[in-house]
Amino acid sequence: MDPVNNFPVAVIGAGPVGLATAAHLLERGLEPLIFEAGPTAGSAIEQWRHIRLFSPWRFNLDAAALRLLEGAGWVAPRLTALPYGGELIDNYLAPLAATPEISSRLQTSARVIAVTRQGMDKTHVRDRETTPFTVRVEHDGGEVRDHTVAAVIDASGTWSTRNPLGTSGLPAIGEDTAAARISSPLPDVTGRDRATFANRRVLVVGAGHSAANTLINLADLAKEEPGTTILWAVRGASAEKVYGGGEADGLPARGQLGARLRRLVEAGTIELRTGFGISSLKTLETHVSVEAADGRTLDADVIIPCTGFRPDLDILRELRLNLDPAVEAPVELGPLIDPEFHSCGTVQPHGAKLLAHPEKDFYIVGMKSYGRAPTFLLATGYEQVRSVAAALSGDQAAADTVHLELPETGVCSTDAGTSCDVPAASTADTDGSAESGCCAAPEPVLVGFPTGLAHGRSGEH
Ligand SMILES: Cc1cc2nc3c(=O)[nH]c(=O)nc-3n(C[C@H](O)[C@H](O)[C@H](O)COP(=O)(O)OP(=O)(O)OC[C@H]3O[C@@H](n4cnc5c(N)ncnc54)[C@H](O)[C@@H]3O)c2cc1C
Repeated sequence: MDPVNNFPVAVIGAGPVGLATAAHLLERGLEPLIFEAGPTAGSAIEQWRHIRLFSPWRFNLDAAALRLLEGAGWVAPRLTALPYGGELIDNYLAPLAATPEISSRLQTSARVIAVTRQGMDKTHVRDRETTPFTVRVEHDGGEVRDHTVAAVIDASGTWSTRNPLGTSGLPAIGEDTAAARISSPLPDVTGRDRATFANRRVLVVGAGHSAANTLINLADLAKEEPGTTILWAVRGASAEKVYGGGEADGLPARGQLGARLRRLVEAGTIELRTGFGISSLKTLETHVSVEAADGRTLDADVIIPCTGFRPDLDILRELRLNLDPAVEAPVELGPLIDPEFHSCGTVQPHGAKLLAHPEKDFYIVGMKSYGRAPTFLLATGYEQVRSVAAALSGDQAAADTVHLELPETGVCSTDAGTSCDVPAASTADTDGSAESGCCAAPEPVLVGFPTGLAHGRSGEH
């Protein structure tokens, strides 16, 4: 970063990784300016506050953030406990956002709508690296302002851009028109959002951990509200991979959850349709009719899309990015996390070097850095941003020495089920040079549902 330029460093998003970024920048003597689209820090997690994390507190806290919090008299939670999303906000993100160091630099209800270099579009090369960035922000009330910054760190996650219901990566025909009948990806079906689902025909689409957890919660709802019908559509020829190994699963907690789901399907509580790749949605007066590519149809009152997420790259259109063509992660990271080949929850530790783009002083970090891969872990993100802050401050040696200390059993220890599948071994290495792939990691204690097969989707039959 150009040392003569005294502009702040923009951080997009005040999720756990965005706030950690700000804490690391402050420790490096850099000035963060955090833009958060939602009304408070942790707005994406707010949507899944009813879901329990699968990694205990100690892996969900960033070291620089902790140093700020401890200065503010914060009392640490029990480090081995597994917080709900809501507890992560209430006991960590909200107090962190309220520290004077962060609150004075955090703008909420401030959505970044574009990033560019001041006075030049992406085709211009002359003086590019020494020209500050312009971050265009839509503030509360709709006012749009341009902010001048020295560097940009995009920690905006992927929650706001779910994958479409349609196959082929495109929305199903009629999906936009049916929006009012499509819920958020992880609704609280037995709590906050109960009224939307009770005594309705609910169609869950997808074959990952979110679908599994949602289906089991819907079955609980149906016990109390017997008029609730649960339909489940998966694209594949079977739901076996969601069940895991059942009672014989090497990962007992996962097996129990999978076995429960299988029993619910076998008992007819959940009506499963396999090979159901959605091609179109027809919105009728009383319901939506969902049509598969082979012509079968399903009628539902409400659809829960458990189809995964993808990064919003539109806001970065004027920047020179180098993204993996499949996963849409930074190009060197992509092959390490491609779900076609990896079902693992973690990769070797990595930092600024691996995350760099041709656009100098611009980084994508956190959940968004994994692009379309679902296996991101907070512990990985915290190490990313420690390294990026070091790089921006000119401390290349600290930026290049990346550490991630996870236990032999990985960070997963419950059946709450989310994005983690296989944990990382304890490791410390130099950026990009570790030899052990994540699949060499030992078996975790727990877990959620697998995010893929043992060798990724390419191992699927
Ligand atoms: C249900 C669930 C459970 C998970 N459990 C675990 C777990 O146990 N352990 C673990 O390590 N990981 C877990 N993860 C994965 C991951 O750690 C979380 O998704 C985490 O929230 C990612 O943090 P983040 O800061 O990168 O993104 P987010 O938490 O998504 O934060 C991004 C922030 O950016 C804001 N934003 C978005 N767009 C803009 C914009 N244009 N302008 C300004 N602000 C914007 C959002 O409002 C949001 O506040 C889980 C994920 C899910 C979905």
